[in-house]
Amino acid sequence: MKRILLLAIVALFTIGSADAKQPKTEKINNIIYMIGDGMGLSHVSMLQMEGKYQPTAFDRAQNIALIKTYSLNNRVTDSGAAGTALASGYKTNNSMIGQLPDGTPVESIITKAKNNNFASGFVVTCYIQHATPAAFFANENSRGNLENICGDFTTRDYDVVFGGGMRYFNDYFKKQNKDAKKELEALGYTLYTDLKSLPTIPAEGKVLGLFADGDLPSAKGGKRGEYLAEATQKALDILTNNAKKNKNKGFVLMVEGSKIDGEGHSRNPEGILAETRDFANAVSVAMDYADSHPGTLVVVAADHETGGLTIPSNKTDFTLPESGIGYAFGTSSHTATMVPVYFYGAGANSIEGILENNELGQKLQDILKLNDK
Ligand SMILES: [Zn+2]
Repeated sequence: MKRILLLAIVALFTIGSADAKQPKTEKINNIIYMIGDGMGLSHVSMLQMEGKYQPTAFDRAQNIALIKTYSLNNRVTDSGAAGTALASGYKTNNSMIGQLPDGTPVESIITKAKNNNFASGFVVTCYIQHATPAAFFANENSRGNLENICGDFTTRDYDVVFGGGMRYFNDYFKKQNKDAKKELEALGYTLYTDLKSLPTIPAEGKVLGLFADGDLPSAKGGKRGEYLAEATQKALDILTNNAKKNKNKGFVLMVEGSKIDGEGHSRNPEGILAETRDFANAVSVAMDYADSHPGTLVVVAADHETGGLTIPSNKTDFTLPESGIGYAFGTSSHTATMVPVYFYGAGANSIEGILENNELGQKLQDILKLNDK
């Protein structure tokens, strides 16, 4: 009897101490949703190898998942369908953005966050009307409807948007005999078009930075400088201040390393390395922010892999020491392989495993309770 009692006491203590070790359920107020367009595991592996395996931002991840990227009408997705899945939680057909195959519009985590009193914004290196960011604010049956996408943008309201695409706004408003700059400012934004102005932009108010007619320059060649990391930091400062001032529940920031994809299409290893490294620098900024701002979850996903990049050994006889590696491409288009997702910060352990791309989108909305009535 004594022995049983002792065992019971030991069991109680064991349960008690296990409980004490459980992390408290953290409240998540902010999501930094980062997407490496076309970034597969080989792209991240290249960054690690070329950096001599010094830890990268991706190595800081506290949890990981893999997502299946197929769209509703193609096992190889495009950025429109993949962006829609990540943004809205719904798969759709290739080329469509924010819309189901039957034309039903689906709203993104950013739109829902805005409607639920969260601050929100974008930082991308492409033109803002491009498929991936557009999947977060537009509802169109084709990603090529750039004028409509501009129109959709004007019906939304964001705290901060940094990217390119001034030309498409100029074209859109010109057709209505209107001036793009005036019209965008009439939406409440302070508009900046010179990339050099980024450091001087005040960290408050509604800010629209359209720093190029189309895409921003490539990372390779250095013309973009540290834009992506600096714009991410600036956007986080603006969102922090605005959310406080406007008594928002928190914020959702979408950040895209948009041009990793293009370098994959071009089968350009140097370009891929430069864009992936540049994206990793922005990921670092987001993770550092999460370190100093409790309640922030950083999600680093990809929409699909581009290039069919592999990293084969120069020689296939593995009994010999290494004779170097190469970068080989299976295609100049997208592939159907799963892509990695990295989690860091508050609630990093709340999502893991092998997921559908739209499931990730759905779970992030659930974390912020965006679909609760
Ligand atoms: Zn893409």
